[in-house]
Amino acid sequence: MQETEKIWMNGELVDWADAKVHVGVHGLHYGSGVFEGIRCYETPKGPAVFRLTDHMQRLHNSARLLSMELPYSVSELRDATLELVAHNGLPECYIRPIAFYGYGQLGVAARDNPIETVIMSWPWGAYLGDEGLRNGIRVKISSWQRIGPNVVPHVSKATGVYLNSMLAVTEANKAGYDEAILLTAEGYVADGSGENVFVVKDGVIHTPSLATGILPGITRNAVTEIAQDLGYRVEQAQLIRSDLYLADEVFMTGTAAEVTPIRSVDDHELGVGPITLEIQRTYLEVVRGRNDRWGDWLEYPSSSPAPAGA
Ligand code: PMP
Repeated sequence: MQETEKIWMNGELVDWADAKVHVGVHGLHYGSGVFEGIRCYETPKGPAVFRLTDHMQRLHNSARLLSMELPYSVSELRDATLELVAHNGLPECYIRPIAFYGYGQLGVAARDNPIETVIMSWPWGAYLGDEGLRNGIRVKISSWQRIGPNVVPHVSKATGVYLNSMLAVTEANKAGYDEAILLTAEGYVADGSGENVFVVKDGVIHTPSLATGILPGITRNAVTEIAQDLGYRVEQAQLIRSDLYLADEVFMTGTAAEVTPIRSVDDHELGVGPITLEIQRTYLEVVRGRNDRWGDWLEYPSSSPAPAGA
């Protein structure tokens, strides 16, 4: 991780090295936190944060499911992020807001623990590599099931959920694959360790429905709108592993992974298809401020020039 100058912590910008907590914090012991992953892109009008308000709204929803009352509103967190981005002065960065139960008592029920709220930012290139973005990645179906909606609500982007993801991606990497796809206990395709999944078959695009108990990805939503605007039908579906093996194209979406083609699933070779590449190209134009159709999705720090017409 490349260090940057400041981290926003509980209302203040503090030096990177000083953003510390005690080893007794509740969140460390029990995974009782919620977080977000957001990207800030270099655009012709300066750095712009993609769908910042939507991400902060999801952070609030995640916290609500954990009965965690965040001490900052969506708009306060939005302003804090823009202040941090402006201060650190990077043209592009990844942004990681996190809130967790802090130091107090260590019973499992976090009764009076304070809530620590932190926003970090640092440069982070292509999550699955530049080569992966261009030529696609190799994916393995995980032997670990995705946690069910009555186990831990995955609709909450809670830190503890990511142990399930970590097991899956570690298994895949050890077996020589780039990423994992997890299935539900019933055998439906859920998602990647940190991405949503799309399948193209006969010109129609399918993605697991929210009823699968997946995280409602903001990139998933953006890609759905973009694909529909490009003239494709996008269906929310129940997909099984053979749909992946028999697909014309498969790709993953996420803030970190952007739109990453999947060139093989369990060694079933799919290649990288034209629909994936068209959607990837359009998505990257949108986030880099080169497509005004979705200009509203970009939020600018006040030190940058305001978007045209704002
Ligand atoms: N699913 C999982 C499990 C994730 O961790 C992520 C990354 N936040 C996504 C999907 C994609 O979500 P988004 O597009 O909002 O980043």
